[in-house]
Amino acid sequence: MIRHIPRSETELSALIAHQHQTASPLVIEGGGSAGITGEIGGEILSTTGLSGVVDYQPGELTLIAQAGTPLAQIEALLSQSDQCLAFEPPDLRLVLGTMAAGPTIGGVVAVNSSGPRRLLSGACRDHILGIRMVDGRGRILRNGGRVMKNVTGLDLSRLLAGSHGTLAVLTEVAIRTLPRAPVSLTLAVSGLTPTAAQALIAQALATPWEVSAAVFHRGRVCLRLEGPGPQVASRRAKLLRLLGCEVEELEGEASRTLWRGFRDLEMFADQTLPLWRLQVRARDGAALAQRLAELGGEVLTDWSGGLIWYQGAADPALIRSLAPSARLIRRAGLSTARFPAEAEGLGRLSAGLRQVFDPAGIFNQGLMGGSMGAADAD
Ligand SMILES: Cc1cc2nc3c(=O)[nH]c(=O)nc-3n(C[C@H](O)[C@H](O)[C@H](O)COP(=O)(O)OP(=O)(O)OC[C@H]3O[C@@H](n4cnc5c(N)ncnc54)[C@H](O)[C@@H]3O)c2cc1C
Repeated sequence: MIRHIPRSETELSALIAHQHQTASPLVIEGGGSAGITGEIGGEILSTTGLSGVVDYQPGELTLIAQAGTPLAQIEALLSQSDQCLAFEPPDLRLVLGTMAAGPTIGGVVAVNSSGPRRLLSGACRDHILGIRMVDGRGRILRNGGRVMKNVTGLDLSRLLAGSHGTLAVLTEVAIRTLPRAPVSLTLAVSGLTPTAAQALIAQALATPWEVSAAVFHRGRVCLRLEGPGPQVASRRAKLLRLLGCEVEELEGEASRTLWRGFRDLEMFADQTLPLWRLQVRARDGAALAQRLAELGGEVLTDWSGGLIWYQGAADPALIRSLAPSARLIRRAGLSTARFPAEAEGLGRLSAGLRQVFDPAGIFNQGLMGGSMGAADAD
């Protein structure tokens, strides 16, 4: 299989211009965690040759990196200055059963990958200051700023985040960083139904006490508080008064380990069962989680009901009838990359965008039926 590894944006631009002229499809690959290579056709375009941190200004809370830079390298650099990425991007290799090298920052932005802290801090796309990219004709484009958000006209970084490599190849990302919270504390309440859990989470989130994440799993709601010690202690006391029930508490490393597990979905590592991702309106989450639990299998609810993960053998048609945008992330024993069909209006809109960015349709052909996925229009 042909594998291109361009070493510069200019080289990438020339390659894409050639592929455009010959209408030769390319499969864009960052770290390869999603395992789309082999599932859709085309020559592989690896971004790993475009790697390295271009600039990091801890005092300004900004970082610029080439798209193929490993996420682990960025996180290690940030941790030297006690900083992190606010949107807590997951590493789903364990879940996807892939031996890939690990996520790249370009792959993270391309799927708008966001973890439990999205609830408080927003999604990946909310932290992008600017991007550089090469479109389907080979044109090098720039949008936004490098040290502050500076967009006139359409904010293309928001469009590209979540486009799964169907519009352009990201080459560089400027991103906001966040000081790392010195204290992490988890308050857990057990023995709840999905409906009771949703009510408890809504109650906690309606307070000004900055719950940074809230997950429901195996009858237990976990609420996370983060920040400087005295602040967390004060918010903890108020939340405990509000909850007024038996609460288990986890602090420090125990709390951080628990949330790493939720972030990376460690409970869904059983490769023999399919795994589904359902992104729904938060208010519909409890009923859907209840229904899925009744079908048998394992359910985790995040983002206050807006994101549900389901690992189980329930009939795919039934799951799609409950949530049409449900995405099969993993078949039994195999990862699967293709997206479900889009609603008609959205499909037209996506096709129009793709026509503008990639008129010859060379990027990730067939991944989203030739258009951006409705499932990811979050
Ligand atoms: C079907 C499926 C859905 C997934 N959905 C999510 C999700 O919603 N949230 C989440 O956190 N994780 C998701 N993942 C896991 C996700 O792939 C990784 O968390 C993250 O993308 C890994 O980064 P990577 O560099 O390994 O990307 P890869 O696995 O190499 O690529 C992921 C996607 O991004 C595209 N891409 C990669 N680099 C670039 C670039 N520089 N420019 C343009 N496009 C690029 C690829 O073509 C591919 O479509 C999903 C995985 C699968 C199989």
